[in-house]
Amino acid sequence: MLVTSPVGAKRNSTLTELSANRLSGIVLDSQATDIRSTFINTAADPQPGGVSAGAFFDANSTIGGAIAASIGATAKNGGRVGFILVAPPGLDGSARITRNSNGTSVAVSLEETLVHELTHFRNQSNQQTLLAFPDSAASIYVDPALAAARTAANSANAQAATVQVLRRFTEEITARHIHWRVRTEIGVVPVLNNSIQPAQLGIAALEYFVELSGVFAPVANGYVQEINRRGAVAQLNQVAMWLNVCAFYAFSDKPEQDGDSRQLFRLAAAWAAAEAAKSAPLADLPEAQGLAPLLRDFQ
Ligand SMILES: [Zn+2]
Repeated sequence: MLVTSPVGAKRNSTLTELSANRLSGIVLDSQATDIRSTFINTAADPQPGGVSAGAFFDANSTIGGAIAASIGATAKNGGRVGFILVAPPGLDGSARITRNSNGTSVAVSLEETLVHELTHFRNQSNQQTLLAFPDSAASIYVDPALAAARTAANSANAQAATVQVLRRFTEEITARHIHWRVRTEIGVVPVLNNSIQPAQLGIAALEYFVELSGVFAPVANGYVQEINRRGAVAQLNQVAMWLNVCAFYAFSDKPEQDGDSRQLFRLAAAWAAAEAAKSAPLADLPEAQGLAPLLRDFQ
């Protein structure tokens, strides 16, 4: 099944990517071959590292147990190209996002799945920029030496490098923010930016960092796990830095919506840093908001 009518148009999520021919298609994973030739026509051949465009497609055209996946590659013109795979439960609306640690889960609709994946897709180029950030950056890691040590300890597995943890945090938090916005927009009461306090997004991101780190931080890397062992001040300072990284991501084709989200992330980062500096951090907390799903949504 090829989705030709962008479902995420509420926030103009797809139009630019599709018209620039960077998104080869959104397809049920079992029918990925439908877009194989479209992908090969725009993807660099070979891809960086030497694998052919066709072999790259074939190696990335199944998604295992995931609900959906965004696959990015280098384009012939040096830019980015790729496709989005959706599993049958994602397509028919029966999918649930499951928290592996305790088996609780939350339902997710096709529209929600697509806006999440399209946010990943929208930021393909930003993702490449982010991957060049050094572990030594003191504005990105509260403990740059630990970041470097955990990358070195995983030198045989590039996916467990610390920058990949940063990348996955940024990707998941930004995609889950757009998911939250669309979920809110399709609800009865539209919630505008001024109805969410930066602290609420900060708390939601902190909950992911502390309770849902499996989403972005493999145990083998261990960076987040170590920061979590150090307690609230380290956690808040790290979340502040990474929320600032999120603020560099793209959220919408509409400048006012894009700026709105970026500003919210900057203010949430400032909140987390200010909270870390208090003598008693996290003493008086608002309700988490601004990400979907939220920790409390898992049941
Ligand atoms: Zn994702």
